[in-house]
Amino acid sequence: MVGTREDVRGTAGAAPALDVERVRADFPLLARTVRGKPLVYLDNAATTQKPRVVIETLLRYYEYGNANIHRGVHLLSQTATEQYERARRTVQRLFNAERPHEVIFTRGTTEAINLVAASFGRRFVGAGDEIVLTEMEHHSNIVPWQMLCEQVGARIRVAPIDDRGALQMDAFEVLLNERTRLVSVVHVSNALGTVNPIARICELAHAAGAKVMVDGAQAAPHLQPDVRALGCDFYALSGHKLFGPTGIGALWGREELLDAMPPWQGGGDMIEQVTFERTTYNTLPAKFEAGTPHIAGAIGLGTAIEFVESIGYPAIAAHEQDLIAFATTAIGEVPGVRITGTAPGKASVLSFVMQDVHPHDIGTILDSEGVAIRTGHHCCQPLMRRLGVPATARASFALYNTRAEVDAFIRALGKVREVMS
Ligand code: PMP
Repeated sequence: MVGTREDVRGTAGAAPALDVERVRADFPLLARTVRGKPLVYLDNAATTQKPRVVIETLLRYYEYGNANIHRGVHLLSQTATEQYERARRTVQRLFNAERPHEVIFTRGTTEAINLVAASFGRRFVGAGDEIVLTEMEHHSNIVPWQMLCEQVGARIRVAPIDDRGALQMDAFEVLLNERTRLVSVVHVSNALGTVNPIARICELAHAAGAKVMVDGAQAAPHLQPDVRALGCDFYALSGHKLFGPTGIGALWGREELLDAMPPWQGGGDMIEQVTFERTTYNTLPAKFEAGTPHIAGAIGLGTAIEFVESIGYPAIAAHEQDLIAFATTAIGEVPGVRITGTAPGKASVLSFVMQDVHPHDIGTILDSEGVAIRTGHHCCQPLMRRLGVPATARASFALYNTRAEVDAFIRALGKVREVMS
């Protein structure tokens, strides 16, 4: 999983090396201890730590630049507006999108999907229509579609995965038909690490006349969400998984679709003219950004993207692929461990179960060793049912993790065995 396309792999040898100690020095939190031990932070799929440049951007904004945007003639408002719109262009560059106004700032992936479900759904999905999801979706890519289906009388079809956690493309294809309005699919699974073949999914869905929404929450930290290469119609990401602030994310949508969709939330900024009889709406992107947005967050997200760009996706992907390969081999030597999610080319997510040990016990014992992982259903209850487990333990690696941290994690798993036997 390398570079600008999800189907380009195996250039690890050619990628520029990442100086992990230098990268770590940019993340102040990584220097802290937890329970008297050096922190080993392996919960990156839940949220990533923030580099100093992002923290300083937020600080500088509030100490020096804070003002509301778009409505002020004074200098502070103008500068804040420029910074906010510059951040939009940075997100546009990340998406390789054609136009900045195709980028809508949202609270995150969840809000972006809800926006599309409510707005695209209201205009384009009706009774008897179908929305295709997959078995590996996060709840935020299931529930908004269920809510829409309840309102309009549409129904959800679910594409199955195989035992490795890869999407069964034949079965997916069979689900597509003239009633399919939308395919909404995760790019990188948070619970399995599976990287879905989005470009192929888009080809098939478009041939059936359906649009494609991509949940990119887990993808953007590892590979460039190049919407032109992928060929999708909507793409959602969360800033906090991409070394940026919480409470900010982005939706990219094709201009012609966003233009054809009704506004979602009503309020300030999204209007052109308001009378008590009738309101006319603003153009993109303001039409979908009602109210005062998370200005500092958007600017901080822009800085986070610049930080990622300064390292480069090929170097990040090569480093993470090394870590996941190293961790997969090492965990294979821990007795009673089974990895859940072994799809070829998967991202740096290591989900596993341990015989006779509940994942929560694994998480608690690891925490006592300073190792932070996640345990539970990972907001993927239908997937857990498919895997036949109530929960898994999950270590997820980011650009600042090291092989030494993988060793510490494996040593801590040895302690779990000792304590629980
Ligand atoms: N989809 C996936 C695959 C995720 O991992 C997450 C976050 N766990 C989300 C959607 C939701 O993202 P957020 O909570 O940032 O809106």
